[in-house]
Amino acid sequence: MAKLGHSGHDYGQLEARWKDLAKRVGWKLTIFSEESGYSVLALENAAAVEKVVGGSYLSAGVHGDECAPVWGLLDWAEEKLSKLDDKPVVIFPCLNPYGLIENTRRDGNGIDLNRHFQDPNIPLIAAWQGFLEERCFDIAVNLHEDFDAGGIYLYELARSESPGHRLLAACEDLISRETAAVVDGSEFANGLLRRKASEEEMRRVVDQDLDGWPEAIYLYLERAKDSFTFETPSEMDLDKRIATHRRFLEAVIG
Ligand SMILES: [Zn+2]
Repeated sequence: MAKLGHSGHDYGQLEARWKDLAKRVGWKLTIFSEESGYSVLALENAAAVEKVVGGSYLSAGVHGDECAPVWGLLDWAEEKLSKLDDKPVVIFPCLNPYGLIENTRRDGNGIDLNRHFQDPNIPLIAAWQGFLEERCFDIAVNLHEDFDAGGIYLYELARSESPGHRLLAACEDLISRETAAVVDGSEFANGLLRRKASEEEMRRVVDQDLDGWPEAIYLYLERAKDSFTFETPSEMDLDKRIATHRRFLEAVIG
């Protein structure tokens, strides 16, 4: 397993490696926000620039106190991006650089962005929504961590047949599945929560119960056929968590 060799909260390293990678593989890199003085990046391949419908949306780092996902996504991308040219791929390497640097869930204005993806009054969200306008994806992937968890788990919002247990199975030799039946207030079966609510019911839940829209639910209702949120336990070894996020991406994208 590779060793990170520096802090998991070093946004300068992360940004530099993504910029190098975009140049190397010829992907378009956009600085779509400069929230709190940090460049927030989006990358897309040529197929995505055409705004063709389909393909994948990948994102990490919306919660800055969950640092393994941003490095797992980068590790995966450094090996795979040059081979991903037939379908559109859009990547948001770190949606909350301030949070990553400060090791906090919230952004520079004290906001949990993952309850505000419907809210264009937040400049970063308005820019994100604008970037995604007219785009639709087959798959959206959001990478997160949970400090209460003892194992990996997956929220699945899918119109396709469930691949959830296959995706978890691909990762569980690195970190085993969460065994709790209730995680963060939701009922899980062997690490998987497949949401069965209708779209109407889901809109009601995000407006009334959650007090705002998480990225994954916004994507599912507005922009993606299937939406996955993968979580690792953030109290475990960092390099192992990074390797697990990378493995998840290999399982879901290739
Ligand atoms: Zn999170």
